[in-house]
Order: sequence, then C-alpha cells, then structure tokens
Amino acid sequence: MSKNYKISIIKGDGIGPEIIDEAIKVLDIVSYNCGFTLEYKEYLMGGIAIDVTGKPLPQETIDGVLNSDACLFGAIGGAKWDSLPRELRPETGLLNFREAMGVYANLRPAVIYDELINASTLKAEIIEGVNIMVVRELIGGIYFGKPRANDGQKAYNTMIYTKDEIIRIGKKAFEIAMSRDKRVCSVDKANVLEVSQLWRDTMIELSASYPEVELTHMYVDNATMQLVRNPKQFDVIVTGNIFGDILSDTASMVVGSIGLLPSASTGDKTAIYEPIHGSAPDIAGLGIANPIATIQSAAMMLRYSLGETQAADIIEKAIKQALKKGYRTEDLASFDTKHLVSTSEMGNIIADFIDK
Ligand code: NAD
Repeated sequence: MSKNYKISIIKGDGIGPEIIDEAIKVLDIVSYNCGFTLEYKEYLMGGIAIDVTGKPLPQETIDGVLNSDACLFGAIGGAKWDSLPRELRPETGLLNFREAMGVYANLRPAVIYDELINASTLKAEIIEGVNIMVVRELIGGIYFGKPRANDGQKAYNTMIYTKDEIIRIGKKAFEIAMSRDKRVCSVDKANVLEVSQLWRDTMIELSASYPEVELTHMYVDNATMQLVRNPKQFDVIVTGNIFGDILSDTASMVVGSIGLLPSASTGDKTAIYEPIHGSAPDIAGLGIANPIATIQSAAMMLRYSLGETQAADIIEKAIKQALKKGYRTEDLASFDTKHLVSTSEMGNIIADFIDK
C-alpha cells in the first residue's frame, strides 16, 4: 500500500496563495510519480483569518497543524491590517503560531545556483560556490521578550535568552555543521549586550562537545558586511531571532533574490516549511512572484519531515533545469534573460521537468 501523508496548508495573504498553489502543483506530480499520496487540509492564518474569524490565529489552525505530518506555509501580512492593535495583527498570529508549534530552529539554506550567477548584484567571483546555512533561533529573543510596551511617549522591548534556549539552538547548529564543512560562526553583539555575552559564553562551552567543529564569533554589524564582502567564508551561521531575520535577507540577495530562499522551522513537535520572504503586497495579484522559494520549501518538507528523499531530489533537479533553460521570473531577470515567465508558468515549467 502506498504511503499517505497529512499536510496542513496555510496560504495566508498577499502572494501567499499564488506561491503555495505552484508548490502544490509540483507536489502533486512528484508524489504521483514516486508512489505516495499527500492529503492536504487548508487552515487560515494572518490577515485572511482576521477577516474570516476575527482572530489572526484560530485554535483550529493550531490543532490541525499539530495533527498533520508537516505544514507548508505561504506568508502573512499586509497594509489592510497594519493599523490593528498589535495583539490582533497578522504578525502576532505568526509569532504565536511558531511558539505554539515549538519550532525553535529556523534553518535557512542560501545556496547559489550556478545558472543564476548573473542574477546576483554581486560579482561572480564573490558568489560562485556560496553555500551557507543560517540557523536562526525562532521563538525567543526580542520578538518574544517581556516586558514590551508603547504608550506613545516611551516604547521598549526586551531581549531575553535563557542558557537552555541557547544550548538548544547551539546543538542544532553544531549537529548541522557536522554534516557539512564543520564550521560554525556564532553571530551576536557581545560587545554591547549582556544577552549576547551569555550567548557567546554558552556557545564556547557547548563547542567542547563538538571538537571537530571550528567555532568562530562575529558581531552582527560585521557579519552583515562580511556576508556581502566575502560570503564564501561562512558555512553554518547560528544566531538569535532578530539578527537571523536580518542576516538571512542579506544572504538571499547574495544568491540572487529573496524569492529563492526556502526555510524549515523545526522543533520537537512538528515542522513548518516556508519561504523566507513575506507576503509581498507590492506584487500580490500581478502573477510575477517567484514561486521557487516555496517549491524548494516543499522539497525540504519531503526530505526532512516525510523522508521522501528521492522526490525532494527530483524537485530540486527540476528547479535547476528550469533555471538552466533560461526561465526567469521578474525578480531574477537580467539583460540576458531568454524566457521571462509568470508565477504559474514557472510552476508549470518545473512540474513539466519533473515529468520528463
Ligand atoms: P517582503 O518579503 O514581503 O517583500 C520585500 C520585497 O521583496 C518586496 O519588494 C517584494 O515584492 C519582494 N519579494 C518578496 N517575495 C518575493 C517573491 N517570491 N518573488 C519576487 N519578489 C518577492 O517583505 P516586506 O515588504 O517587508 O513585508 C510585507 C508584508 O509581509 C508585511 O506585512 C510583513 O509583516 C509581512 N512579512 C511576513 C513574513 C511571513 O509571513 N513569514 C515575513 C516577512 C514579512
């Protein structure tokens, strides 16, 4: 009997539905060809959930995702909901969702496709061979710390990390480094912040358990600059929530576009697979969003949550073939672009390469 997996789908807002539809198109073909089935169930979150249920994160979504084998997520947010009180905003729903799912480690691979060397704003010799894994702590730090307030005259947030939280994410980074080039760069702001000093001390302590892995440290301001100056120096970057958020956007432009970077948010209960970008309201509905980050996230889901390695390989190969043949969405287009394609055309082309 063929295997059947339960996949929760959250399309969200803006370009979310457009890019998720392309990922599902690709998943349907690859699962059929590889002899397993995916049973999708859609849940609401973000702005659309506010419109339909009055809340950014309905309980049904939490229960549904926890009862599935993995979750594929689009993006949430948009100007329509920006003036709501913070606790009712789509972004608060997303943070609460990640916390409820316990997904403390967000893995963001930034790998250059040879075919896209010219799509980067950086010179070819700087970016050729870039292969970085950003390991971002996802459910702690300043996005979650209390107290937090804004009374119109004074506003503050709190950056907190406990030693246990740092050990938990540090272990993940060291373990990932063991299967790669065995180098971890821990990014912090230990010259100014107490929380970063604890982060650094804990990483040093932890590194004793991973003697084969080289641990280095970098301040976040320097790391942002180094990512653009010489990205090849990095193997695994481990960092806190806000620094990881910023650094991975920089890493995305090193490899060509924010529309390319997938991610896996993992923990002990479940995993959520999502592009690193947001809902891109400026291009929503125009049919020009790049679906590759989401299709690549779907491949990560097959590989890491379902163990369907062959299917993941097939998707990744199809993406490369589409790029090799010169198909580009607008974000990747350059002077030598042969075939400028829409969001759904890119999905169709990748799906066709899977069938070949
Ligand atoms: P964004 O990532 O949505 O967009 C930044 C820029 O990148 C925009 O110019 C956009 O058009 C472009 N872009 C993003 N994804 C693209 C794709 N797949 N193809 C082509 N171009 C793409 O970030 P933003 O503009 O700062 O935020 C927009 C909304 O998204 C806000 O409401 C924000 O809170 C939300 N957001 C959500 C998430 C999430 O759901 N995980 C993450 C970040 C931002």
